[in-house]
Amino acid sequence: MDTYDVIIVGSGPAGLGAAFAYLDRRPEGRILILEKERYSTGGLRNDCKMNFTYPIGFPEEYWDKEQADRYLEEVIRNLKPEFMEKQNLSIYSHRAEKLGVTLLEVRQSHLGTDGGLELIKALISRLEERGAEIHLEETVQDVHPEERKVFTDKGEYRYQDLIMAPGRKGFSFLQGLMKRLQIVFLDHVVDIGIRLETTVNQYPIVKDYYDPKFLFPDRVRTFCTNAFRAYVVKEKYLTDAGEPYYSVNGHAYSQKHKENGLVNFALLKTVAFTEPLASGQRFAEMIGLQAMLMGGGKPIMQRVGDFRLGKRSTEATFNGDLYHFEPTLYCTAGDISLSIPAKILRGIWKAMKLLDTIVPGVLHPSTIMYYPEIKLYGNKPVFQDKYFQARPHIYLAGDGAGTSRGITAAWASGIRAVEGILQK
Ligand SMILES: Cc1cc2nc3c(=O)[nH]c(=O)nc-3n(C[C@H](O)[C@H](O)[C@H](O)COP(=O)(O)OP(=O)(O)OC[C@H]3O[C@@H](n4cnc5c(N)ncnc54)[C@H](O)[C@@H]3O)c2cc1C
Repeated sequence: MDTYDVIIVGSGPAGLGAAFAYLDRRPEGRILILEKERYSTGGLRNDCKMNFTYPIGFPEEYWDKEQADRYLEEVIRNLKPEFMEKQNLSIYSHRAEKLGVTLLEVRQSHLGTDGGLELIKALISRLEERGAEIHLEETVQDVHPEERKVFTDKGEYRYQDLIMAPGRKGFSFLQGLMKRLQIVFLDHVVDIGIRLETTVNQYPIVKDYYDPKFLFPDRVRTFCTNAFRAYVVKEKYLTDAGEPYYSVNGHAYSQKHKENGLVNFALLKTVAFTEPLASGQRFAEMIGLQAMLMGGGKPIMQRVGDFRLGKRSTEATFNGDLYHFEPTLYCTAGDISLSIPAKILRGIWKAMKLLDTIVPGVLHPSTIMYYPEIKLYGNKPVFQDKYFQARPHIYLAGDGAGTSRGITAAWASGIRAVEGILQK
């Protein structure tokens, strides 16, 4: 059986970051990356907007600014981003401050969905040239820590050290594995919200600042803005019991594509549970399933004009003359307030009104609210050290393990796991 110095599960940014970090420090090392898809499925593949400023993407319980900045230097060396210009920020931040809202200034780059795919291919071939073995379309099914073996749908491999980085889609798989390996974890935090879609003219801030990060009261924030060539998409998830539900998301293409003049972004509220509810994932699944029920098996969309009047949207609403742009994701026209918990909706609606005062126009009646957008990155394993080691020789990195919430931080978490392996 093949034995590797390090086996990495997942070829998202956490897995790739770990692979580069290992080969940078041990060029002769033998590493294997196992990826169940043809290409990694997270943000590198979708939109690929990268944020290089703490605390964006870095959960503050694991990272401080000094640490994150140190890792970000290495991330920048690996990813070679081209930073986007920002302008006129003082106008928006001045308005925001007056309302008790914070506008974070973040260094960003944006490749778009097509540019992200090119980046993934380039990173994979750079790793292969340096001797990494990469098995695509091979799914990890189990791990036996005593024999240090990984089992996949195609074979079994032995490791000295294992880095598990299966991302948000691998959230349930990782939870199952942690239960089997008796790794204690909490998953009491979840982000739930909506995605707004409107025209660039109604949210012109994106011309000055591509992905503006606003922090509103009640733990609501803007997240993942896509502009100019932007589309809303739905992602399919399965509950533990195997029932499907959707979360909406967004992406945009690079400048090589024709503009559609639209912009979309999420407004998310962080919900942290205390006793007696322990699982944010279970809560999120219930939210997802309830939205499926209300939407007849699809996400729900509602025009702001209808929402304000307290009535559901219908097919007609989406064809009226006031409503001058078509949704990029056709789902069920309905009433999101029947499905979204009151406290979450209150926080989000308040944030929308504040945002409309900072960037007037975003609450135009035509603006579409899509629901639900769910972010599961609340797994909080009990780590044995600061390098994300959860059991001897097993490290958990990236979004699936709650150590990151974005591409650059996921990459940094992979580097940090490797530092842990090499300092042993
Ligand atoms: C649609 C979408 C758009 C996003 N856009 C952005 C963005 O623009 N900017 C940003 O910073 N963040 C974005 N994100 C978030 C970003 O994707 C994550 O923060 C980041 O990718 C996390 O990296 P990761 O390596 O932990 O996980 P991932 O990137 O999700 O990678 C995990 C990989 O593991 C693989 N995997 C899972 N289970 C197994 C298994 N059992 N066996 C083998 N392989 C497995 C998956 O197929 C996946 O490729 C987006 C996320 C989504 C879903």
